Amino acid sequence: MHCPQCGHPQTRVIDSRSQESSNAIKRRRECLSCGHRFTTFERCEDPLEVLKSDGSIQAFDRNKILVGLMRATIKRDIDTSKLNELIDDIEFELRASAQTPVSSHTLGDMVLKRLQKLDKVAYIRFASVYRDFKDIDEFIDELNKLR
Ligand SMILES: [Zn+2]
Repeated sequence: MHCPQCGHPQTRVIDSRSQESSNAIKRRRECLSCGHRFTTFERCEDPLEVLKSDGSIQAFDRNKILVGLMRATIKRDIDTSKLNELIDDIEFELRASAQTPVSSHTLGDMVLKRLQKLDKVAYIRFASVYRDFKDIDEFIDELNKLR
């Protein structure tokens, strides 16, 4: 939660109460940098779920995706905020189309599609982890598609 006054990323919650009528939590926050106080309404949205290839369902975990993306973008000089935006975009698309549970395959494709636009090297690195390449030829095919 960024401070609306100075943009500082760290704020402190000084009061928190849930709104009975809606699924929202009203929070009073204070900026750790400039001391500006403001109120936020945070919606408790339904959790998104991911259907794995073995048939099990897991919670959509943006942190897990972020860790994978950070690993794929090591030394590529891509700002973490760009990666967060990428995940925000996916989350938005999933919510907008009410796609839950989303298959892990579809989710992987959604990540790859966006990563390809952002950074080709990171895309290949991520693809090699995310997609189950059966053998090296498959991986090389993927590389060749980018040339
Ligand atoms: Zn501030």
